[in-house]
Amino acid sequence: SDQPTILFHDGNSIPQIGLGVWQTPNDTAVTAVKAALDSGYRHVDTAAIYENEQGVGEGIRASGVDRAEIFLTTKLWNGDQGHDATLKAFDASLKRLGTDYVDLYLIHWPAPKRGQFVDTWKAFIQLQKEGRARSIGVSNFYPEHLQRLIDETGITPVINQIELHPDFPQKETRAYHEKHRIITESWSPLGQGTLLTNPVVAGIAAKHDRTPAQVITRWHIDNGLVVIPKSVTPSRIAENVKIFDFKLDDEDMQTFAGLEKGGKRIGPDPMTASF
Ligand code: NAD
Repeated sequence: SDQPTILFHDGNSIPQIGLGVWQTPNDTAVTAVKAALDSGYRHVDTAAIYENEQGVGEGIRASGVDRAEIFLTTKLWNGDQGHDATLKAFDASLKRLGTDYVDLYLIHWPAPKRGQFVDTWKAFIQLQKEGRARSIGVSNFYPEHLQRLIDETGITPVINQIELHPDFPQKETRAYHEKHRIITESWSPLGQGTLLTNPVVAGIAAKHDRTPAQVITRWHIDNGLVVIPKSVTPSRIAENVKIFDFKLDDEDMQTFAGLEKGGKRIGPDPMTASF
C-alpha cells in the first residue's frame, strides 16, 4: 500500500492512518471496517467500552484481508484496571474480536484516582511477553503518568493516544513523547467534525481542491502523528485516506498554526475525568 508506517521503539510498526470506530454499533462496525479495508486502510482502532469489538472482528473477516496484514488496536476500560482484572478483560476482548492477538493494547485512561495504572501496566508487560499483545501503549496519559510507568517498571509505552487536532496541538505532551521515543496518536483528529466547517480550513481545502477532512488528516500525517479519523459512511471513509497524492506547504502549516489561538479540549481532562 502507499500508506506510511511509523516504527515503534519495540521494533513493530503502525500504519500512520487508521479507522476510528467510537460510537459505532456492532452492525455498523461490520460495514465500516469492511469499507475501510476495501479502500486500503490496514489499521482499525476500537476499545472494549465501544461495545463493537465483535462487529470489528466480523468486518475484518468479511473483508477477506489476511489478519496478518491488519493492525488492530483495542483498549482496556477503566473499571477493568488492576493486574488480574486486566488479564481477564484482555481475554474477553480477544474472544469478542475473534482473534488470538492484538497489534496494540492500550490503557484507555490513566484514571489517577483509582491508583491502579502501574499494576495494570505490569499486566500489559506480561501480555506482550506472551505475544498476545504485540505492542503495548496508553491513552490520555499526562507526562507525569508516563514517567511513573517508566520509573516503576522500566518499560516505556510505545504510543500515547491523546485528544489532538490542529487547534489543540498538545505541544508539551508531544515534546515529552519525543524525548522518550513515544509515538503520538491523535484522537478526535477532526475535532469530532467541528473543524470541518472552519473557514480557515475551508481556505486550505479550496487551495488544494480537497475536502476539509482531507487537509486536516494530511496535517496530522505531516506532523508525524498517527491519525484515526472516524466515519461510518463508505464514501467518506475512502475520502479520508485519499491524502497521499498531494502535499501541504509551509504556508498551509502556518495557516493551520493560526488555529491554535483559543483551541481547547472537546473531551474530558484525563486528570479530573469522573470515570
Ligand atoms: P473525529 O475527529 O474523527 O470526527 C468524526 C466525525 O467527523 C464523524 O462523526 C463524521 O461526522 C465527521 N466526518 C468524518 N469524516 C468526514 C468527511 N470526510 N466528511 C464529512 N464529515 C466527516 O472524531 P472521533 O470519532 O471522536 O475520533 C476518532 C477516533 O478516535 C474515534 O472513533 C476513536 O477510535 C478514537 N477516540 C479515542 C478516544 C480515547 O479516549 N482514546 C476518545 C475519543 C475518540
